[in-house]
Amino acid sequence: MTLQQVSSFKETKVTGSLYLVPTPIGNLTDMTPRAIETLQQVDLIAAEDTRNTQKLLNHFEIKTPQISFHEHNTQERIGQLVTKLKAGQNIAQVSDAGMPSISDPGHELVKACILEDIAVVALPGPNAALTALIASGLAPQPFLFYGFLPRKTKDLKEQLEQLQYQTATMIFYEAPHRLKKTLRILSDSLGENRQIALCRELTKRYEQYLRGSLKEALEWSEDAEIRGEFVLIVQGNSQGFAQLQAHKKESSDLSLKQQVDALIQAGQKPNQAIKQVAKENGLKKQVVYNEYHQIEGV
Ligand code: SAM
Repeated sequence: MTLQQVSSFKETKVTGSLYLVPTPIGNLTDMTPRAIETLQQVDLIAAEDTRNTQKLLNHFEIKTPQISFHEHNTQERIGQLVTKLKAGQNIAQVSDAGMPSISDPGHELVKACILEDIAVVALPGPNAALTALIASGLAPQPFLFYGFLPRKTKDLKEQLEQLQYQTATMIFYEAPHRLKKTLRILSDSLGENRQIALCRELTKRYEQYLRGSLKEALEWSEDAEIRGEFVLIVQGNSQGFAQLQAHKKESSDLSLKQQVDALIQAGQKPNQAIKQVAKENGLKKQVVYNEYHQIEGV
């Protein structure tokens, strides 16, 4: 295997470079001097929403032309952008806010450039996940950046079932209108005592941190009018893999009812516990449900 070596130094460069430029997540003064300079100097800016980015460009008096690059035209645009880069143009890619590629467009373009030996240069800058993490008060490392959880309830529950033994601090993005439901399912799946930090409107006027247990966060969300942008920082499972192993070992000696009870004691809701026990024993949920509730005919 040959290690790919591509640099963006002018002397060695024949093609242009792709610059990944982070933009503010709410506070315009978070735009770095290097980000402004890069957007001024490139030949073209590939933007998730050109109208949105135009406001940023106007603010910093940047005159560079734009081209749209978003999830609906990714494949079509990649070919065009790579052709321009190979012809020697320098291109900056930006998303609406924060770091490109982080729950935003960009990754496919980066892969295409790497395949073509085009230099990819990432600028450091604003990002909601890491900003939230360092002020959350929860362990900053190790962490797992997840981004947006699945929207469908079934997929969401399945995903959280897999994450319940995760020891790393977890970072989720969530839309305000889905927050209440997500907190409820997080609490059901991970246990209501798990700590969470709700990090709202970071870097903006009404920035707010709500820190406490999932139970407290859920109670808060029942009464609150939920507005603004949120990052959820969720404590990892302090027992982690050891708890999973212990649970499996114990389960092998326990009746179905005892296995369900053990999970309920660990903080799970009965339905969730029944579902998990069914899965672990390769049984239908109804079978465990009937056994647990001592319904005849099992
Ligand atoms: N690329 C961005 C980044 O680097 O953070 C993330 C883009 S993603 C489409 C948008 C989500 O990021 C929002 O739904 C919210 O969860 C989070 N987010 C972005 N800006 C935020 C802010 N100022 N405060 C809290 N969360 C924010």
